[in-house]
Amino acid sequence: MKKILIQLDSDESSSVFDAITAYDAGVDHILQYGNIIPDHVRDLVFGAMFTRGEDDLKNSAVFIGGSNVTTGETILKAVTESFFGPVSVSVMLDSNGCNTTAVAAVRKILSVGSVKGKKIVILAGTGPVGMRAAGLLALEGADVLLTSRGLEKSEIARATVEKRFKTNISAAKVSSIEETEDILKDAYAVLCAGAAGITLLPESIWSGHPTLRVLADANAVPPLGIENTKTHWAGKELDGKIVFGAIGIGGLKMKIHRKCVAKLFTQNDLILDAEEINDIAKEIKD
Ligand code: NAP
Repeated sequence: MKKILIQLDSDESSSVFDAITAYDAGVDHILQYGNIIPDHVRDLVFGAMFTRGEDDLKNSAVFIGGSNVTTGETILKAVTESFFGPVSVSVMLDSNGCNTTAVAAVRKILSVGSVKGKKIVILAGTGPVGMRAAGLLALEGADVLLTSRGLEKSEIARATVEKRFKTNISAAKVSSIEETEDILKDAYAVLCAGAAGITLLPESIWSGHPTLRVLADANAVPPLGIENTKTHWAGKELDGKIVFGAIGIGGLKMKIHRKCVAKLFTQNDLILDAEEINDIAKEIKD
């Protein structure tokens, strides 16, 4: 029986990246739908639920993508609300690559050692990647501090993460080199989760820093988030620090993405969001 993925995308053109990754994960056929809003979801999901018998439902699955993560979350809710009883299909949320990227960054940081009780700063952590990484690291026991150029925005992100992950983090406004230096005092790790092409961490701060042990950068577009590092560094040791560039993280992200899509077709009741994707990632030898 053919493995069919229903790709629900909040953008007008559904993501080519997500489609190719799905084929590479072993999907036989993709049904792509763009411009999806929650109101569209039920009938599309019913089409997946009522076409195959209960034992065969695992051969149909839903993938939610698109650049708007908030819309993706509401689409996920609409998908799961369409199910009843045992009649369901598996579903994965990865709008804008947020879950797979955050999980990959978190796994890289954890590969260096436990983060329990250690201070981890997520610079520009108010985007989808930063907020998911913040939640996952807090669940690992880290003292997470998320920053934003705006105090109010940092507080909104903190509250969102705490509600979503049922955990506590801190937040602060950081908009200058001095504030960056100050916030990194006593930090064990830093994750630069800022928008593409924005340098957040100057070399003058990270080089020779007395406590920083792990540096991770999600931004692959020059100039990089961490000054004078390379995107392909995948755990490079430098000045007593372990550095992960965006491509160093991205290789693992692709493995996670493919494994999660493949996993969708093993049963008909998986709901893969950040925590579940993180659990699947733990099975990957990187
Ligand atoms: P995002 O939402 O585009 O940006 C994150 C934060 O960056 C924003 O909330 C904003 O924070 C800050 N920012 C924006 N412009 C800035 C500026 N000029 N100066 C300083 N800060 C600025 O990021 P995202 O979607 O979460 O992605 C995070 C990073 O991961 C990006 O670099 C993205 O390209 C990368 N990414 C990689 C992959 C992959 O597969 N490798 C996948 C997805 C994303 P404040 O306004 O609160 O200051």
